[in-house]
Amino acid sequence: MSDEIGGDDGAPAGSSPLDRLLALQDEDVHADQLAHRRRHLPEQAALDALAAALAALGESTGPARREREALAAREAELERETAEVVARVAAIEERARAGAAASYRDQEAMAAEVAALGRRRAELEEHELEVLEASEPLDGELAAADARCAELEAELEAARSVLAASASEVDGERALVATRRGELAAAVPRDLLAEYEALRAKLGGVGVARLVRGTCAGCHLTLPATEVDRLRHLPEGSVAHCDQCGRILVP
Ligand SMILES: [Zn+2]
Repeated sequence: MSDEIGGDDGAPAGSSPLDRLLALQDEDVHADQLAHRRRHLPEQAALDALAAALAALGESTGPARREREALAAREAELERETAEVVARVAAIEERARAGAAASYRDQEAMAAEVAALGRRRAELEEHELEVLEASEPLDGELAAADARCAELEAELEAARSVLAASASEVDGERALVATRRGELAAAVPRDLLAEYEALRAKLGGVGVARLVRGTCAGCHLTLPATEVDRLRHLPEGSVAHCDQCGRILVP
């Protein structure tokens, strides 16, 4: 509608302090929208979702990982004990070869110990087999989880650069808006600007509004016809206010 652009009397934007203030208000609204967009970038939400998925994956594989670590410790313990048994048998056999067993009783005792060690070794091997069998499904589960984790990390990395690109685009736009806003602010009388800033802070970011077909565009309430008429005939350069919302009103 032409009302939004040129106002009721068709004055071009930027021709008076109030028109410049309206243009400044547009830039401020734009800046607020960009700030909101910057805080709520969908790319950030995507990144957060990936990070959450990665954390959840780490959490869900925790028990399997701890169980696998316990089995690995058990395996190492069994291997250590087996090595001890093997070394003990080798030592006894070495003594036998060297003829260290003086008597038949000694030979019998050595043979009994070798037999006992052999049974212990068989037991240890059985336990090792149990550990390996228990480890197998866990290894499969953890390998799948690690592969998924690597995928998620790659996606996360990609999402980070997409977010950075998106954020810098918005930041660039914000810088342009800030420049235009600065130029407009410099062209608005200081008192008017201060009043606008105070109203804007108090009234949800909008400090100045047009009067559009008898309605304040700030609060959307319709003014009485007599008030509209009075505002239209205010002397040049005076600043009117909406008596409903208090915003600076530009007839
Ligand atoms: Zn109003």
